[in-house]
Amino acid sequence: MVAIRGTGVSSGIALGKLIYYKRKENTPNEKFALDSASELAKWKNASEKAKKQLAVLADRTRREVGDEAAELFETHQLMIDDLDYTERIASLIVENKKSAVTAVEIAGKEFSEMFVAMDDDYMKARSVDVIDISHRITDILCDNQSIFDLKGEQSIIVADDLTPSETVQLDKSLVIGFVLSEGNANSHTAILARTLGIPAIIGANTEWKDEYEGRQIMIDGSVGYIVIDPDDTTKEYLLKKQQEEKAVRTMLEKLKGCSDITLDGKEIKVYANITHPADIDAVIANDARGIGLFRSEFLYLESDDYPTEETQFEAYKYVVQRMNGQRVIIRTLDIGADKKIDYFGLENEVNPALGMRALRLCLSRPEIFKTQLRALYRASAYGKLSIMLPLVTSLWEVQEVKRMCDGVKKSLQKDMLPYDEHLEIGIMIETPAAVMIAPDLAKEVSFFSIGTNDLLQYTVALDRQSTAALDRFQDNKHPALLKMIKMTVDAAHDAGIWAGICGEIAADSSMTEVFLKMGVDELSVSPRAVLPVRNIVRQTVVEK
Ligand code: PEP
Ligand code: MG
Repeated sequence: MVAIRGTGVSSGIALGKLIYYKRKENTPNEKFALDSASELAKWKNASEKAKKQLAVLADRTRREVGDEAAELFETHQLMIDDLDYTERIASLIVENKKSAVTAVEIAGKEFSEMFVAMDDDYMKARSVDVIDISHRITDILCDNQSIFDLKGEQSIIVADDLTPSETVQLDKSLVIGFVLSEGNANSHTAILARTLGIPAIIGANTEWKDEYEGRQIMIDGSVGYIVIDPDDTTKEYLLKKQQEEKAVRTMLEKLKGCSDITLDGKEIKVYANITHPADIDAVIANDARGIGLFRSEFLYLESDDYPTEETQFEAYKYVVQRMNGQRVIIRTLDIGADKKIDYFGLENEVNPALGMRALRLCLSRPEIFKTQLRALYRASAYGKLSIMLPLVTSLWEVQEVKRMCDGVKKSLQKDMLPYDEHLEIGIMIETPAAVMIAPDLAKEVSFFSIGTNDLLQYTVALDRQSTAALDRFQDNKHPALLKMIKMTVDAAHDAGIWAGICGEIAADSSMTEVFLKMGVDELSVSPRAVLPVRNIVRQTVVEK
């Protein structure tokens, strides 16, 4: 038996097979390859795939940006088939016995240098293009996809860290636990685990030996305890604890159907956070009174191309209809920072959490944003939908979105499509700038929802993705954060609107009373945390 310690970030006990999450390294670049026929076939296949990718890109760019920009990708498609370029690659493979990757790299470099040396500015500019198409082909040849097969068995995934897009691709019916050697409690992977109710542990920094793979592993997500090949006593102890946790759940289940009212009569909105329409079953099963945060970007993360207006409309409509008249707050796209999507083609930034993220991206790429806004407005005809904007820092951003919403409403009227005239727009307060200008922002919107995960990282200048080495500098209940929550709530109330919290701290039962006494009107938590929060709300006295 091997025992390992980490930090529990999603409670629950799981027993399954240990599977390492492996990313395929770039295939070590074999410079020489004697089997020319197979290398030629690999190269041709990759070139065809590259052309297909470019056709999709050209199509999308034409829709979103215009003809001129789209033509670049069409030129790239033609360049892949350019006779001189293809003959050079083929000759490097056949005559010089180069591997397909090396041949494409060499040809790309040679043609690029040749273009740079030309007098004509137009031809000079082609040097970047030839490098670009060569990279596209070598990327396909190196295939960076992860290799991963759970073989139909219930598995606990062990990884250094997982990105949100890796996490969404896992087969949730088989993954029953996560163990990460890095990670942070406020990272999106931890949030996802809590939303899905999957036990998870981070910071399990040990020597993960190859021989552990495939062995039995047991984890306790509430205390961060991991055992490989548990002996009978340990197994018995953990299974008993699992039974006790189940008994607590059964007690909490009795709160279904009960109101979220404090002992002195204040009604609190206890809502749920979701990342996917499929999470709605857990929301209903846990009797949340609404959805306080639907992280819509996960619809984008799990697809290979921008989800269309129709796809989004169907997803939002489904959630709104299932909530049957209860409030559903859908947060507009919050991509960037740790949530990367290849097809957005975002530049690599030195500091992406401070870069092209969330609302900034939406305002910079209005066509993508308008598609989402149209889908949201259309879905609003089917229930009580509100729109929420992430990462607001300035008043003008909100005003610009409101103007865009007016345009969307006009276009829907023209298309004779129904929408809710009373749809409310709210914002997330998750930057210190938003806290400081909250009194002005409050005049523009119908509600505030405090995103403490980001507000904390931007306030204490500590990355929410940080690892164990920074643990002692991370204080989830930092007095600065608590003061900011109070300032935000006061600003909201002065303007006659409500304020809630949808960051992870909202589910911390040791803080519920503090928040309610500050005047917080709403707590939006992962579905499984709804009943525990309700339990405390019902035992709290707000006024002294
Ligand atoms: C937050 O920042 O607190 C929040 C709720 O948004 P996300 O975790 O998705 O960034
Ligand atoms: Mg956030």
